[in-house]
Amino acid sequence: ARSEHHDPGELLERHRAVLPDWLALYYQRPIEITHGEGRHVWDAEGNRYLDFFGGILTTMTAHALPEVTKAVAEQAARILHTSTLYLDRPMVELAERIACLSGIPDARVFFTTSGTEANDTALMLATAYRGSNQILAMRNSYHGRSFSAVGITGNRAWSPTSLSPLQTLYVHGSVRTRGPFAGLDDAAFTAACVEDLEDVLGQARCGVAALIAEPVQGVGGFTSPPDGLFGAFREVLQRHGILWISDEVQTGWGRTGDHFWGWQAHAQAGPPDILTFAKGLGNGMSIGGVVARAEVMNCLDANSLSTFGGSPVTMAAGNANLAYALEHDLQGNARRVGGLLLERLRAVAAGLGIVREVRGRGLMTGLELVLPGTDTPSPEAASLALEAAREGGLLIGKGGGHSTASVLRIAPPLTLTVAEAEEGAAILGHALRAAELDLSTAR
Ligand code: PMP
Repeated sequence: ARSEHHDPGELLERHRAVLPDWLALYYQRPIEITHGEGRHVWDAEGNRYLDFFGGILTTMTAHALPEVTKAVAEQAARILHTSTLYLDRPMVELAERIACLSGIPDARVFFTTSGTEANDTALMLATAYRGSNQILAMRNSYHGRSFSAVGITGNRAWSPTSLSPLQTLYVHGSVRTRGPFAGLDDAAFTAACVEDLEDVLGQARCGVAALIAEPVQGVGGFTSPPDGLFGAFREVLQRHGILWISDEVQTGWGRTGDHFWGWQAHAQAGPPDILTFAKGLGNGMSIGGVVARAEVMNCLDANSLSTFGGSPVTMAAGNANLAYALEHDLQGNARRVGGLLLERLRAVAAGLGIVREVRGRGLMTGLELVLPGTDTPSPEAASLALEAAREGGLLIGKGGGHSTASVLRIAPPLTLTVAEAEEGAAILGHALRAAELDLSTAR
């Protein structure tokens, strides 16, 4: 229902007057979302949208999932917060579940409140364990917004400062279709990236602490390396004693369909030393965390706690949400419905000059947009398609490397149905055709 007090212009003005300029908003007429259910959300004007971005992958299962709402309400009615100075049953239970699922032997779990803080902790552990502040990261990567996370983020559009407490060396591997190794087959691409890694390691002044990498780059535009690449990297890293941190903030919990974690597509050399997670676990409640072998996790020699990390309310959400995802095989749903969605999107994109590539794993699908008939990334095409999709009742995201947001990102809640996948693909098809028309008439 339309809110009586609703005036989007007024709220936008107030937003702009009090919040930072760099806190970007989507859409020329930004949306105020007031409620959601399942895979849908409603705005303050009463418009309904199919949600294919899920609050940047935070709504893992569904909006207002009754199981999560109930668990949160029951916990909130008892106590909101105690801090980890006291025993915290929901936290121990969730840590046990995650340790078991992580694949990391002798795993310890530490909860934070965001992906940024999880990666920050992972970097602190790796640098302390190895006695070095040199980090290997992937070109085009995104790892969060703290000072140290920004310092290892390869995507220039999201690293607002070049000053960093860490020394970062960037390696190739995540972008298949652009850059010096474009066009190589999987084996040749992997070999070229391993050679690049060895070359970069040769330039490192002292020991390197860790490689941090997203198995599928999220903000970078849902690009994945060939299966096995990080396993091949891992063999090189192990020769030097360098740790592997897998940033699973976007790829965890079965979203990639074939695997529960993104690293499992690279698994020949075993699990990472450190795994970080956040986003989907709390289905909208802010949980992040780090999993590491006990030897690595316990290398800190002073106390360290996150005041809100592990709070019973967020842990209740995490336990209920994860139990739901496992009981309903949402990983299987991501594989099946994600596969179908990819097919449908490839079909609607065929014949459109603005779509250069449709790619994805499970329910993480990226459409790379270009100026029609060229290879030039087109953030304008992406903006036009985003707007047109919204007009059609579909919310999607944007991303992309090379400082240009030219990739449409699609990551719906993992309970997406076949009918909703078909509907979303049809809306996006119209939106892409409209964007292409707009671009060609503008030229
Ligand atoms: N790592 C990855 C791969 C991410 O996509 C993000 C968020 N987009 C982060 C870390 C940071 O997480 P948060 O925004 O919760 O701090």
